[in-house]
This record gives sequence, structure tokens and C-alpha cells, in this order.
Amino acid sequence: MKFQIITLFPEMFEGVFAHSMLFKAQDKGLAQFQLINLRDFGQGPRKTVDDSPYGGGDGMLLKVEPLHKAIDFAKNSNPDAKVILMTPRGQKYMQSQAREFSTESGLIIVCGRYEGYDERVAQFIDQSVSIGNYVLTGGEIPAMVLVDSVTRLIPGVLGGATSAEIESFADDITIEYPQYTRPEEYEGLKVPEVLLSGNHQAVESWRSQQSQLITKQLNS
Ligand code: SAM
Repeated sequence: MKFQIITLFPEMFEGVFAHSMLFKAQDKGLAQFQLINLRDFGQGPRKTVDDSPYGGGDGMLLKVEPLHKAIDFAKNSNPDAKVILMTPRGQKYMQSQAREFSTESGLIIVCGRYEGYDERVAQFIDQSVSIGNYVLTGGEIPAMVLVDSVTRLIPGVLGGATSAEIESFADDITIEYPQYTRPEEYEGLKVPEVLLSGNHQAVESWRSQQSQLITKQLNS
């Protein structure tokens, strides 16, 4: 799967892509990341990508023309890719959406900056995505959230075949049960007895109860 990220700050992604699962996914040939610098599509000798908003107001907006050109450039090498715009006005991001994205052959992710972007860019994208009801400085961190959550769902990226199926939000709501590892006791804190019992059925039933309890608490 090919991810193409349109950003004014490509260097922000370097550390994230060079470690852990995102590195392994590239290493195994399961994911490919291309960083596209929006500045390369800027206008005039200063490669301008932003301008002030019509009607007045604080800050600058990303101009539609450089964004459109960058999207076209990305599409040239991946015509079937879905174009996603990171924006607080987008559809709220959920695990089910990550799962859907993981079946695409490619994603082109557009990162906004400053006060946002010229709304006409909406004509050139397939979907808008928000990672939550708060405002970040730019679309780069939201894009990293999306890339990480999607990449780990690509078959073969995670170790266990069912690793992504039995974890939190598999159905967008349910939270995973609590887990423990050695030692059995740490500073008086004990691992729940049932997990040491060797009784597989009892373990499953305890996990299911815990999962339901935590999910209820978090949603009440
Ligand atoms: N003026 C905009 C507003 O009030 O909705 C906020 C612009 S924000 C400072 C700059 C860029 O960061 C946005 O265009 C978007 O790309 C990204 N961004 C910020 N918060 C986001 C969120 N919750 N989800 C997705 N992208 C976000």
C-alpha cells in the first residue's frame, strides 16, 4: 500500500517512519511512504503557498492551486489512490474507518497548515477526516495518526494474525480487557488469580466481563 503525504513539513515524518511497525512495514515491502513537499508546487520566485483570507481575519490559508497541483502530482503515480484531507471539519476518525482505509491500494493525505486552506480544495479530495474535537497546529500529526493506525491493519504488518481483531475499538466501541505479565506480584500488587489458574474458559469469561465493565465506565 502506498501512502503519499502532501505537507509543508516533510521532515516531521522522518522519525515516525523510521521506527517500529512503520519501519517494519516498509522493510517487508507492505507499505511505501512518499513525502511530497507542498513548497515544490508554490507560485512565483518565492514558491508561495499561502495567502490571506478573503473577507478578512487572522492568519493565512493554503492556496488552492499549489494544493491541486500537488494532488495531481501524487495521483500521476497512483491514480487509484483515495485523497484524504486532514481537517477539524472532517468525519470523526474511528477504527472502522482505519480498517476501510487499510483495504485501499493507496492514500494521498493532504496536511493543512496555518488557519487552514482555501475551501475549493474540497473539489479535489475524496474524504475529509478529523482526528477529534480539538485543533492542532497542522495536519501532520493527524496524518501520522492515520498512517500508523492504517499501516498496522495491513495484513502481515502485525505479528499475530488476530492481533488487530481482539483489541480495543474493533467494533469502534469496546475496550480491551486489562493485561498483566511477570512478576506475579510487584510491591504488593498481585496479578488477578484467574489469569494464573490455567482455566482457559475462566480466563475468557473474566476478560469478557472486564472488557464490558471498562467499556461501560468509559461511555457513561
Ligand atoms: N482554522 C481552522 C479551524 O478553526 O477549523 C483550524 C486550522 S488548524 C490550525 C491547521 C490545520 O491543522 C488544519 O487545516 C488541518 O489540516 C489540521 N488539523 C488541526 N486540527 C485537526 C484535527 N482535529 N483533525 C484533523 N486535522 C486537523
